[in-house]
Amino acid sequence: MLTGIVGINWGDEGKGRMVDLLSEEYDIVVRYQGGNNAGHTVINPLGKFVLNLLPSGILRREVVNVMGNGMVIDLQHLSGEVARLREGGIEITPENLKISERAVICMPYHVLQDCLEENRLGDAKYGSTRRGIAPVYGDKYLKKIIRMGDLKYPEYVKKRLKDIVEWKNLFIEKAYGDEAISYEKMLEWITRYGNEFKDYVTDTGVYLNEAAKQGKKIMFEAQLGALRDIDFGINPYTSSSNTIAAYAPIGAGVPNLRLDNVIGIIKAYSSCVGEGPFTVEATGDFAHDLREAGGEYGAATGRPRRVGGFDVVASRYGVRMQGADCLALTKLDVLSALDEIPVCEAYEVNGRRVEEFPFGEDLAVAKPVFRYFKGWKCDISKARKMSDLPKEAAEYVEYIEKQVGCPVRYVSVGAERDAYFVK
Ligand code: GDP
Ligand code: MG
Repeated sequence: MLTGIVGINWGDEGKGRMVDLLSEEYDIVVRYQGGNNAGHTVINPLGKFVLNLLPSGILRREVVNVMGNGMVIDLQHLSGEVARLREGGIEITPENLKISERAVICMPYHVLQDCLEENRLGDAKYGSTRRGIAPVYGDKYLKKIIRMGDLKYPEYVKKRLKDIVEWKNLFIEKAYGDEAISYEKMLEWITRYGNEFKDYVTDTGVYLNEAAKQGKKIMFEAQLGALRDIDFGINPYTSSSNTIAAYAPIGAGVPNLRLDNVIGIIKAYSSCVGEGPFTVEATGDFAHDLREAGGEYGAATGRPRRVGGFDVVASRYGVRMQGADCLALTKLDVLSALDEIPVCEAYEVNGRRVEEFPFGEDLAVAKPVFRYFKGWKCDISKARKMSDLPKEAAEYVEYIEKQVGCPVRYVSVGAERDAYFVK
């Protein structure tokens, strides 16, 4: 059984929370794209954890976790993240963590480049997490990278790094006028942090194929959501990788395998980190109340997230791009705080009503067409079946399911592992 767990919206839908819950049934969890710009918060009986690079199955002892070739890995960050989890009592060894030899190393100069470019853009910035993600994916396409498997060949790393640093400094010194990066420092960095993870590096494609052959259950965990996909998201305010489920077999190292099902994680309202069009964006007291009720601050960066009502147009598009078979609707409990719940049913683009997610400048000028649901104004965090929900909340769930055209399988009413029910 191969299952994708992916985001339908702008990210932060609660993927980590759902992977932590559903991985009980799985043998392996694979992260197939992205880097430490991800922030997956998991609250379970072991404590509260924020995962940036590690798959969210790492908190279950029996689960093997794989970091796929589609990922970009900041080794220093990984070192810190692993140390943090170990302090929290989580065991991490080459037995339960396997890193693809094809995964790309995100170097300190990528982080530097990310910052230099965001600073250069000033007010027109993309809202990057400044963790080097766009520059390192850019270099992947330019084929000027060092991969995890290269760590086994120190002489090759030296030679390659020397060439790349020379090339990088053309931009850093001559284009941005910043201080040149030092080859020696970069070599020291990659040697120090690389040595820590050498034993975790393997051909994860072979490993996963073998596991699939043995009938093992494998979960593919995405970072961010459909609207941040490099091909189908809101350019240029996307991430720099493919977040969609169709990419999961590629980014995991098993392009020969097909997913059996895709679970789309969808939030009961909207939130968005970073810049760019966000049609349903709320302001003022309403935004403040929703942000506070939902704790909408970036897990990776602490930035306050932009928030708004549920967006049918964007979510329907997200469901389609993900090819979701069913949905997990999260954070329904957060809406208990609201008197009135706005839902964006359509957009208005230059006086026209639009129900398909628009491209480019049409999206930039789109206005939301809202309809309002009456709030239920009571605690629903103890609900464990549909019939425990007040009538208004149950109707809201049914409405979303119908509008986005995909069945809701799980309803999450709290951040803790067991605060959910199956619809
Ligand atoms: P991810 O990036 O998709 O994994 O999501 P994040 O972890 O960035 O954001 C989701 C946040 O909501 C986390 O802080 C979770 O602990 C929390 N959360 C997840 N599901 C629920 C839920 O159903 N109700 C509430 N109140 N919080 C939730
Ligand atoms: Mg997140």
